[in-house]
Amino acid sequence: MEPSTPSKARIETDRFCGDCGYNLNTQAVWRDERLGILLCRCPECGRHHPAESNVTMAQDWLRRLTSLVAVVWMLGVVVFLSLVMLVTTAVASNLTSSWELERLEQAMESGTRERWIEFVAGALPFFVVMMIGSWTFVGVINLLASHVRARRLWPAALVPPGLSAGVVLAFTEPTSSAAASPAYLPMVLIVAAVTGVPALASYVLARSIWRGLVLILLPPRVRMGLLGLWTSDGREMPRG
Ligand SMILES: [Zn+2]
Repeated sequence: MEPSTPSKARIETDRFCGDCGYNLNTQAVWRDERLGILLCRCPECGRHHPAESNVTMAQDWLRRLTSLVAVVWMLGVVVFLSLVMLVTTAVASNLTSSWELERLEQAMESGTRERWIEFVAGALPFFVVMMIGSWTFVGVINLLASHVRARRLWPAALVPPGLSAGVVLAFTEPTSSAAASPAYLPMVLIVAAVTGVPALASYVLARSIWRGLVLILLPPRVRMGLLGLWTSDGREMPRG
């Protein structure tokens, strides 16, 4: 392909061939009449490139760095969410194999208030961990999927109760004393409720909370990256 309009213009900055990485600095630039754009030709691999879509060394590195950061960040989030669910399910399955099960059995048998208080007080640390884990899981999913309408994220709210109750059921030996306890299935239901309620609350509230946090914590220019928190729910981001 011959230059249709010879030109004296040359590329004057470090700019790199998108195909082979050759530095195109000082290469001739001409306007292609048919396409109406400025072109240059890589002397190394012979390919033509639009002269205006310039990728300087710094921009090239910035682009690579940005995608690297994105990958690392996504991996970090996946590891974090997995850890959250791992801890939640571990605590949940601990409840059905520990003496908490015995306390629940006693409370169910005697029906006295003292016994129930004893059970709840003993299980409270477990409950708190499960609630925080469940809330956090749905909340982080809500932020990650900020381009999705919040109402469509209901499957995320089913994960904590489904997974924790499912793990408990799956990992209890059918012949174990835990499985034989009359308190076993009630405990599984308690596990599902203790993770399900915060998951549901987070599903309903997380998007509004994220919007509030973004407005409070992020300066206007940085905020634009999280515009989806508003637009996906049919709202407008407040100005200023
Ligand atoms: Zn090239």
